[in-house]
Parts: sequence; C-alpha cells; structure tokens
Amino acid sequence: MRITVISLLLWSLLLAVACEFTTISDGTMVQSIEEFNEAVKDLEPGDKIVLANGTWTDTELELVGQGTAENPITLTVQEKGKVFLEGQSNLRIAGEFIHVEGLVFRNGHTPTGEVISFKKNKELLCNNCRVTECVIEDYNPSERFDADYWVGIYGKNNRFDHNYLVGKRNRGVTLAVRLNNEASQENDHHIDHNYFGYHPILGSNGGETLRIGTSHYSLKNSKTLVEDNYFERCNGEHEIISNKSCQNTFRNNTFLECQGTLTMRHGNETLVENNYFFGNKKANTGGIRIINESQTVKNNYCEGLTGYRFRGALVIMNGVPNSPINRYFQVQDSRATDNLIIDSDYIQLCAGADAERSAAPITTEMSNNIIYNTEKDEVFTVYDDVSGIDFQDNILSPNLAYPSYKGKEIKRGFAHKELEWTEKDGLKLPVGKDIGPDTSIDRPNAQNTGVSWYPKKDYRIKFNTGKVINVPEGENTISEAVKKSQVGDILQLVPGGKYHQSKSVDLTHTLTVRGAADDKANITFERSSLFNIENGGSLKMQGILVSGAECDDYAGNSVVRTSRYSMINNYKFFAEDCDFMDLDVNHSFNVLRVYKNTFADSIGLVNCTFSNITGHVLNMDKETDDIGIYNVENVLIDGCEFKDIGGTAVTLYRGGRDESTFGPIIDMTDSTLDNVGHDKRNRHQSSVYLHGVQLAELDQLSFEASKKLNLHLIVGEPVINVRNTNFSKSEGISSNDPNYTRENVKTLR
Ligand code: CA
Repeated sequence: MRITVISLLLWSLLLAVACEFTTISDGTMVQSIEEFNEAVKDLEPGDKIVLANGTWTDTELELVGQGTAENPITLTVQEKGKVFLEGQSNLRIAGEFIHVEGLVFRNGHTPTGEVISFKKNKELLCNNCRVTECVIEDYNPSERFDADYWVGIYGKNNRFDHNYLVGKRNRGVTLAVRLNNEASQENDHHIDHNYFGYHPILGSNGGETLRIGTSHYSLKNSKTLVEDNYFERCNGEHEIISNKSCQNTFRNNTFLECQGTLTMRHGNETLVENNYFFGNKKANTGGIRIINESQTVKNNYCEGLTGYRFRGALVIMNGVPNSPINRYFQVQDSRATDNLIIDSDYIQLCAGADAERSAAPITTEMSNNIIYNTEKDEVFTVYDDVSGIDFQDNILSPNLAYPSYKGKEIKRGFAHKELEWTEKDGLKLPVGKDIGPDTSIDRPNAQNTGVSWYPKKDYRIKFNTGKVINVPEGENTISEAVKKSQVGDILQLVPGGKYHQSKSVDLTHTLTVRGAADDKANITFERSSLFNIENGGSLKMQGILVSGAECDDYAGNSVVRTSRYSMINNYKFFAEDCDFMDLDVNHSFNVLRVYKNTFADSIGLVNCTFSNITGHVLNMDKETDDIGIYNVENVLIDGCEFKDIGGTAVTLYRGGRDESTFGPIIDMTDSTLDNVGHDKRNRHQSSVYLHGVQLAELDQLSFEASKKLNLHLIVGEPVINVRNTNFSKSEGISSNDPNYTRENVKTLR
C-alpha cells in the first residue's frame, strides 16, 4: 500500500515536470514565462529553448548562459511569424554564444530602456552572441519624448543581422552600439543584412536610426562593421547614422529616400565605402558628412539627393579649434575619393563655418570623384578657406561651375568632361571609368535584407487610398460616416449640402472630407471643436465652408484640434478650396489648435479663405522648452485670403540652438492678409511669426492693415527668402537679423 502511494506520488511528480515543458525533437518548448524562467535556470551549451506559437503579453525574457562556438545556446520560436511579444515585453541576453531568432515585438513598448539588450546589467554583457531574423514593428510608448532604444549592443563580437525594424517614433536611437567600458570597446560587432524601415520625422534630436558610441567614448575604438543593410526613409533627424567612435566601417549599405546623412560625428579612422544613397529628389535627402580625422570615403554612389547644408550629398565640415569632446573636431588627414555624385544638389565644403567652428579642413584630399548634374549648374558651396583640401582629378559635368570662395574659382583638381553613361540595375554608371561602387557585390534592397516571413507595412500617411463614402445631409451624419470609415477613405458630402455636428468628430485614421470647390458643402458645429485629430488621425478637407456661428459660447474653440495628449504618430492636415468664417462667438477661436508633444509632418492651406476669426489660423507654438522641439515640419500656404483675424495667420516656433533637424519649413505664397493680428490677446503681436524656422519662402504676399511679419532667426543658417511682398498701413518686417528689418524691406522686394 505504502509503496503504491509513493510510486503514485513519484509518478505525478514526473508528470508535473513533464507538463512544464514539452521536449521537442530538438529543444525545449515553453508555453509561458514561468516555463521559460524554469527552462533558462541551468543552461548548458547546446540547449535550445523554443517559444510556443501565440501572443506573449508583458513578457520580459532574460536569458543568461554560456554556450560555445560549436554548441551555442539557442532561443527560437515554434514557427516564425506566429510568435508575438506584445504589451510591455523585452529581451535581455548575457553570456557567451547565445543565438536568438524569430522574435516579433509589436503592439506595445519596452518597459525598460531597450527592447533587445545585449546585456543583463552593467556587469553581465554579451559576447559572441547573435540576434537574427527578429522584428520590431511600431513598438512605441504613447509619449513621444519618453526615450528608449530598440536595440542596445554591448560586449564584443556580437552579430545583429537579418532583422526588420520599422516605425520607431519616440525619442531615442533605433539601434545603439554602446562603448561604456572596456568590455564593450574594440568590439568587432557585425551589423548586417538588416532592413531599417520607415522612421518618421521626430522633430527633435534623438531620432537617429543607428548610433555607434557617444561623444564621451568617441576616441575609443569600436571596430564595428555595418554592411549590407537597407535603410528606407529613415527620416528621424538629420543623422541617419551617427558615428561616434573610432575604426568603424560602413560598407555596401543602401539608403533609399532617407532625410539625413551618414555622419561621422565623432571618432576617427572611419571607412565609408561602396554605399548607395538614392534621394529620388525627395526633400532633405543627404549623403555623407565628414568630421574629425583620418576618415576615408570612397566608391560611394549618390544620386538625386537634394539636402542642403549639413544634409548635402557630400559635406566636409569646419571644426572648432581645440574642440571639447562634444563639439566639432577639425577635419584632417581625410579622403573623399572615387565617389559618384549624380544629379545631387549640394556639396558643402567647410560647412558650419562660424565664429566657433573656425578651423577649416587640413591635410585632406578630394580626388578622382565624378560630380555630374544635368539639372543644376552650381552644386558647390564653400564656406571657408579650402587650401587644406588637396583637389585632384575630379571630373565635373560640362555645365557645372567650379567651386568658388569669396568670388575666386577653385579650378585646380577639377576638369570638365562630357562622359558617356550607361544604366545598370537602376544605377547610372560612366562608361570606361572605374569610379563608384563595386556592382558585383549584391546591393541591399527590400528583398535581400530583414526577414522573408513577415509582411512589410508602408507607414507613410497617404490620403485618398480607400473608398468613397457618400454622406447625406443632416445632423451628425459626418460623425456617423467616420465610424464606418477606414484608413484612406473619402467622405463625399453633397455639394452645397447642409451639415451640422452637435458632436465633435474624432479621427483616429487618415480621412478626406470632401464637398465641391465650386459649390461648397456647409458645416456648422456646436462643441469646442469640429474635428479632433487623435493619435493616428490625419485630415484633408476639400470644398467645404465651415462656420463657427452656432458654436457654444466659450473661449478657446477651434475647427480642428489635435489630441490634448502626446501623439506618438505624426499627422497631416490639409485644407483646399475651403472657407472658414465667423469663428467669433468668443475670444481665442482658432482654425487649428495644437497641443504639446504633437507633431505634424505637413500642414497645407491652399485656395482657402479665413474671415472673422478671433484667434489664430495656425498657431504652432506649443513647444516652449527651447530644446529644439517644434510642432510641424512643413507648412504650405498658397492662394489664401486672411481677413479680420485677431491672432496670427501663422505662428511657427522652434526654440533653442540644437541643429539636428530640418524644420520648421514654410512656403507661403500668393496670399493676402487684411486686418490680421490686432487682438490684444495675440501675444505674438504679429500677423506672421516665424521663430527658429530653417527655411522660409515668402513670395507674393500682401499685408494690409496688419501687424508685423516677425522673423526671429536663431539657429543654423536659416534660408529666408522674402520676395514680392507689399506692406500697406502695416507694420512691415521685424527681425533680430538686420538683413530682414523693416528698413531693408525695399531691398527684399
Ligand atoms: Ca543627432
């Protein structure tokens, strides 16, 4: 009897153990975090842990073990593409020879500072480990300025390859290689065949896709090799890659329409070779920026890049004499050779030259490059003395002007030559010249990088990609239609129809609301706002007349507002052929009201009228910490009439002296302002207030009885063009820059 009981107990104990994890043909399948934690307790070389198919929520995987080169410890999944880590999940690995593959992080964000970390803590790092075929997709916190990294690599000899990372939206580098102590220096990491997908504009510093080192450790050798990766529209900030350590190599990577440059920000002896930069003439697309010593830039291919200043196709910076570690070291002993630079708008030499950055490049060479541009005759900008750059055997297309400094052409080392060109795999190559990339090596693209088993998603905001939904006239018919709509749909209103909203309309995806340009649909509304662009929402209005006459009598109403909370998703707002009128039931009634920690990729107002408004039309001034953050990247105003507006027609505000971003950018043309800006609550006391903008094209504007056009220029080298602009009974231009003061208005016409 006793024996039977004991054997039963033993049997059930065995059963219990057996139930904990299923031993599959090779490896241990785990179904829960408890089973995982049990399985990783005493890992031996050759052990393999398999995450079962399904969604793992709030799962923090920590794997510490000592594998060997022959018998690594493996963490994998039952089936690739069927195991998801969601909510607040992450992965930490530490030890030797650990191999991780097949994890997908989505629908959440890391509770710690990193999603995938090559360390357990400060002491326990990873060496000889590999993370391959993992996905991190749109895995962001809701607060855009809560910082994290998606991947932090520590230790030595680690490989990160064939991963797909897309949709990093909050502050913080996508992939950071850290050199915080000796155990992470001279690391020989290998970062290869990864697909770095769309990275929206952050609107601040801290949106780099890849960073190696930090300024503090920048004179240490990292020896990281970055090759065969595909970077697609990595637009976070102006450094796609921020190199901040020594002896790194960037080889055979493709950059497609990335707004920014591969920047050798700190550290020396970098090799940048055989990389492809395709701008396709998209705004702010850049190439390679050289700072520091002994940098080599060779055999790269740059085509269709439009970026200016720090975002040129090729930029050689000025440095700071005896620079502190975190500023700009002088360029010396560096070479840019055998590069093909085609149809790219800017090559910048001695860029950033100013009172502080006064050290021009020395003992540097620019040789054997082909610079060809069939559309533009001037591509060079020389900001300082280039006698420290030895120019040799560079070929220019016949139309191109020589570089020149202070009116003196630099001809030595440049020759005009008509070349014969051939097309090969989307490349333009000069016939008979062995210059540019080695095309016998596979060029990275969307197919040969990342993972094959996970769908690629286009996260760009696009209007009018869905179906048309006809919206009948009446009360709240618009909000009803929105509920039935999907991304990209068009809500078609009846031309001349009457619509009334007693409810605000929440938008959480991209929508167009359309009437007709020649017979506008009329909308009235009651609440404090008509449309709310919540996180994920974007709005295009066409052919609509909006009146605020029936709004509740409160201060601070608006036609459109953003979320009141941080928006991790950027948004777009366009109004075309629309009239906004009688926004005056109380004071401070805006057309668009934005909140802090929201960011518009673009805002466009085309052929619109604005009349009888107590507040502002566009008031993008909610980032007042003066740390280089702002509310909108691109503003387009074309063919608009602003009449009897209490606040400003447009306010853009970007405070601080950070130089990491392109915007804000405004293009305002062919518009009239009549009696704009006089309300006592208009704290800018301007009709147009542009503070810290980087690019402003103001053309064919007419100011009648309006407050000043206020240009406050504080950072970078803003490009401000004011043309064909008239002021009548108005305050003219006011600026902290004497080039743009009221007295000079005449010369600007
Ligand atoms: Ca940066």
